[in-house]
Amino acid sequence: MDLQECFYCGAYTHDEKSFYTHEMVGVVKQNLVEITGYSYRTKKLNIPRCKKCHNKHELKFLYISLPLFVICFIITITLVAEYFGFAWPMIFPILAWASMLTYVLDELFEAVLFKKIYGIVPEGKITAYPPVRELMGRNWHLTKPANGLARNEMIDKSDYGVIRSSIEDRKKF
Ligand SMILES: [Zn+2]
Repeated sequence: MDLQECFYCGAYTHDEKSFYTHEMVGVVKQNLVEITGYSYRTKKLNIPRCKKCHNKHELKFLYISLPLFVICFIITITLVAEYFGFAWPMIFPILAWASMLTYVLDELFEAVLFKKIYGIVPEGKITAYPPVRELMGRNWHLTKPANGLARNEMIDKSDYGVIRSSIEDRKKF
């Protein structure tokens, strides 16, 4: 395989196993009742990443995201038990709340500290990668949009072929 520039640190790599795969979401059709959802297509992008950056991203999950979730879970369950008394059906809203809290704190960590600590771009911060930017310019999303928000952001069917060929063109470099 040809050498490619790691998007995260700029080093050259041909270690395709370390690439970061991200699935872009394109809304194809909005349901008649907006809040009930939409139909979508996904497109997998392989973002060039070297082994070092791959390892740093894994370490971040192991040493930051996972402990953050455990801490959020323990704090939430302790507070709930303290104020309301614990019952098993509560485990689901507790898990949901702990996940949401973890997500927010994790995003904050990535925005403020990640680059300072690891010296590279966080795994999911890929909007500057040209094929991602190009797809986003054509209404593709990084993640699934909320129901109802997908209106007016549908991808144009005539674009499918253009998108595919422009991405494949870039891969040849
Ligand atoms: Zn790298």
